[in-house]
Amino acid sequence: MKVLVINCGSSSLKYQLFDMADERCMAKGNVERVGSPDAFIVHRPEGSDKITFNVEARDHEQALKHVFAALTDSTHGVISDLGQVSAIGHRVVHAGEKYAGSVLITDEVMAALNECQDLAPLHNPPNIMGVVACRRLMPDLPMVGVFDTAFHQTMPREAYMYALPYEMYTKYGLRRYGFHGTSHRYVSARAAHVLGKKPQDVCVVTCHLGNGSSLAAVKHGVSIDTTMGFTPLEGVPMGTRSGDLDPAIVSFLCEKLDKSATEVVQGFLNKKSGVLGLSGGLSNDFRDLEQAAVDGNDLAKLALDVFAYKTAKYIGAYAVAMGALDAIVFTAGIGENSPEMRQRICDRLGLFRVELDPARNAMRGVEQVISTPNSGVAVLCVPTNEEITIARDTVQIVESGVAAL
Ligand code: ADP
Repeated sequence: MKVLVINCGSSSLKYQLFDMADERCMAKGNVERVGSPDAFIVHRPEGSDKITFNVEARDHEQALKHVFAALTDSTHGVISDLGQVSAIGHRVVHAGEKYAGSVLITDEVMAALNECQDLAPLHNPPNIMGVVACRRLMPDLPMVGVFDTAFHQTMPREAYMYALPYEMYTKYGLRRYGFHGTSHRYVSARAAHVLGKKPQDVCVVTCHLGNGSSLAAVKHGVSIDTTMGFTPLEGVPMGTRSGDLDPAIVSFLCEKLDKSATEVVQGFLNKKSGVLGLSGGLSNDFRDLEQAAVDGNDLAKLALDVFAYKTAKYIGAYAVAMGALDAIVFTAGIGENSPEMRQRICDRLGLFRVELDPARNAMRGVEQVISTPNSGVAVLCVPTNEEITIARDTVQIVESGVAAL
């Protein structure tokens, strides 16, 4: 079975085509700057160099037509016609409390996702545009929605409720949802596998550290807490997002900066804060910050220290939440590629007798244990793979006709 995985952002459309017989990625790519006159596609067939060319993509439907054309092109295509694609798996950020697993997309599901637009006004609309475009162009193809929030639907009430008047929850759905669920699910299962254990036998803290970062407490295979909340702004500081704050800061900044609350949250806390803000505007990229810290830049060091401190603090909190800690897993851009940040975080976990193996920790993007045999807790690096997880869910649902989880 060949499965196309689609991930639509506001101005981008990422895709991967899998042959699920051996889970081989036949081709992948990205249409960027969708909606602008200088849109282009980057297409990489398996085993070949990537090719880039300008395309006309005023909207996601047009972008999708270029993806279909690239996949079936006589020179750089990988299939002869679209009839070879059996199903499409869509990444959708927010499913509210509606879905705790992946689902076959029907008109009823579309209606439910549209209801969630309010909860994720930045993320869901482009995701849904991608689904709508695919359904219009390929109306007979089964499609599956895989949600970032779904894995965290197992959180207990005490973990997902804010201490606000209860009717804010019942009226507006104001609660913690969590994100990056597909990644936390994948890497926690891989970590158990690498340790030779079943997911139901281990307590794992997964650290998805990228431009957006979140941690999850995965106890016996289910998420019982995670750092992102109602929106992806909560939790550890990120590239440009503040993470946890005293909420009174919002009104304080509204007054001082003469801005509306929306401007403060969207423009300031989401885009100008995090390690970018802490480093005095130097960079949101941890490679730049590590280099600047080596060169003696004190604010770069501060940004890295705050990030490491808050991440380590959550690991400790999640050990308490789970009542045990068998493994810590690092994934995503920073987690997979920054031995320096892994070390900075683990240096703060002396209470758990965490000990990294310097040679193993020096590796980037390799799935392996990176702690010593004497370490009090196993530490692993596991490159995430949300796309294969979406493709697997799609196969499972299409073949069985039931929910994947
Ligand atoms: P996104 O959240 O956009 O998916 P990624 O998971 O791709 O982000 O992570 C991107 C971030 O990973 C970059 O901004 C950079 O900070 C970090 N990163 C990538 N490679 C390295 C590296 N070699 N060392 C340190 N940080 C890195």
